[in-house]
Amino acid sequence: MEKIVIIGAGVAGVNAATKLVDNGYPGDHITIIDMGNDPYKRKPEEVMTGFMGAGGWSDGKLTYHTAIGGHMSKYCGEEKAMELMDEVINNFKRFHPKPEEVQCSNPVAEPDFIKPYFGLRLFPVWHVGTDYLHEIGKNWYNFLCDKGVKFVWNTKVTEVDFDNSTASTADAVFPYDRLIFAVGKSGIDFGKHLIEENSCATEPKPVQIGVRFEAPQKHFQKLIDVSYDFKLYRKFEDKGVSLRSFCTNNNAAYVALEETYGDYSYNGHAKKDEAYRNDMTNFGILMEVQGIEKPFDWSRELVSKVNKMDVVDGEGGGDKKAQGRYRAKYKAGLYYSPSNRDKTLTSEGSWVKAHYINEEGLQQVRDAFQGYFEYIDDFIADMEKVFPSLKDDWGIYIPEVKYLSPEPLVNYGNLSLEQIPNVHFVGDALSARGITVSGAQGTYVAENIIENHRSELFFHLEDANYIGGLTMPKQ
Ligand SMILES: Cc1cc2nc3c(=O)[nH]c(=O)nc-3n(C[C@H](O)[C@H](O)[C@H](O)COP(=O)(O)OP(=O)(O)OC[C@H]3O[C@@H](n4cnc5c(N)ncnc54)[C@H](O)[C@@H]3O)c2cc1C
Repeated sequence: MEKIVIIGAGVAGVNAATKLVDNGYPGDHITIIDMGNDPYKRKPEEVMTGFMGAGGWSDGKLTYHTAIGGHMSKYCGEEKAMELMDEVINNFKRFHPKPEEVQCSNPVAEPDFIKPYFGLRLFPVWHVGTDYLHEIGKNWYNFLCDKGVKFVWNTKVTEVDFDNSTASTADAVFPYDRLIFAVGKSGIDFGKHLIEENSCATEPKPVQIGVRFEAPQKHFQKLIDVSYDFKLYRKFEDKGVSLRSFCTNNNAAYVALEETYGDYSYNGHAKKDEAYRNDMTNFGILMEVQGIEKPFDWSRELVSKVNKMDVVDGEGGGDKKAQGRYRAKYKAGLYYSPSNRDKTLTSEGSWVKAHYINEEGLQQVRDAFQGYFEYIDDFIADMEKVFPSLKDDWGIYIPEVKYLSPEPLVNYGNLSLEQIPNVHFVGDALSARGITVSGAQGTYVAENIIENHRSELFFHLEDANYIGGLTMPKQ
């Protein structure tokens, strides 16, 4: 049986391992290396790393449509893609402490009042609830450990030698027969480096950048009643620009700071527990721009321009009494509100890290966006028309970004690199942008491995009466 090394214990890596052991693949042949912590030690501020990766501290919304969350159907067709997504959703339910609370919202009709300003993308979403993700993570981790899967925590893989099939960390070398490269967004730079170093063929990707918008939920309630995770969109075909609202959080909605490559950007998550209710709504306004030369470098430069290191006066975490006495210097993105709304608190009770800017600061942001910010200005202006009570009662955290590094060309049957058949790219490191698709890609690769080991697994499993995915009778 092949020795499998998975780099990244995120959604993609964990689903791959689960599919393997569910089908009798021996857990002790699977090693998962992650630069973060196991689910017992992972802290809330470790947003991107550790068991279940960025998905582990996300807002737990599992989108259920092949047009959302990245590419799956392009590799395996619509029907198979939906089947794989089902498996991922079932895994979240399987390890959920209260699976009956996982619910699906499925909006069906585009409401008239948003026309003619916006279109609305309609698709089902399963809501797991951020608060449950920690428990899900622990249950899932225990299951994999019980199956013998080996985890290496707090360890960054710094090099992969495709010729000799080894993955190296600062003080160890892991030989593999098959590598699943599942490093997510936090490892995009590493993936890019490996692709360049090995001259792998790639597909160019567009830029995706914008802001995280935040306002009291009441202004959007009419639309939320139709679609909880609404996706407003508009397209300017002739300009190669399209915009969409992205990852909407309501009821207990918090803005989250993300660090990638030493710069900061914003995202959001929602809590399910009523105790966290703040009656806010936040969502990304994300712009996709085609035709920019070196889009990855362009996005990184822009993000770095709208980050600053500054002293912040009068912020005492969530402790109101400490305000005015507290001085801190930190690097972060920016926050603007036309009505001087305060930033909100994080779910841990500290202020979201972002530097306040005024009109002048916003002009600098517009300059950094090189003309593209006007699309965001227009998007917000039109939201003010569609949601009349909104007026200037909002704020934006700048920037929100989806780094789409050049996508390596892979074999569609098993997502292995075209030139290196024993290395599989999955999840955000390939072409996913969400939990369901990332998990589905991991599962897809695992299925292919199982298929290649069908006869050995048959012998290995001669006592089994449950072999997920494969139809083998108990012997
Ligand atoms: C705040 C936030 C909220 C989100 N909310 C949602 C949501 O509600 N719904 C949704 O569908 N998507 C959401 N997303 C996106 C989603 O989490 C990702 O698309 C998904 O987790 C990607 O899965 P992955 O396995 O590819 O990568 P990840 O889950 O990011 O996992 C990658 C793992 O690789 C590890 N790693 C990286 N580099 C190395 C290295 N060199 N060596 C060792 N380990 C390494 C990291 O520590 C990490 O644990 C959210 C993301 C964030 C940040």
